[in-house]
Amino acid sequence: MEKPSSGFYLQSDGRRSFSWCRECNNRHRVARFREDRYLALAHYGRGDIRCRCCGESKVEFLALDHVNNDGGEHRRAIGKKGGNSFYAWLRKTGYTYEHLVVACHNCNLARAMYGECPHQTARSSKLAP
Ligand SMILES: [Zn+2]
Ligand SMILES: [Zn+2]
Repeated sequence: MEKPSSGFYLQSDGRRSFSWCRECNNRHRVARFREDRYLALAHYGRGDIRCRCCGESKVEFLALDHVNNDGGEHRRAIGKKGGNSFYAWLRKTGYTYEHLVVACHNCNLARAMYGECPHQTARSSKLAP
């Protein structure tokens, strides 16, 4: 027996966009997102996927950090909302956007809010005469 069409995603013209049901489609989207994320991290980590600040290597904690602090601008330029499509955009454009490094969420957020991660502050004050 066929599932009712409400169980499927519909295209704007009312046709089913996928032959998968909603549940499979969600699973596929999550898998796709993880794959895009992993590929992007592998690319920008140059094969060594870890936070360039603290060395965190768990993919779940990692993200891409804009070295020029232009993340917001960049997302607007891409014209997509949220982070999900960002990884897909990178894949589709062949990772030609260069100003990204791998950083964990802690370091990323600290840098975004304070301009510098406390790890770096600690390191530079240790290095200071
Ligand atoms: Zn970190
Ligand atoms: Zn850090």
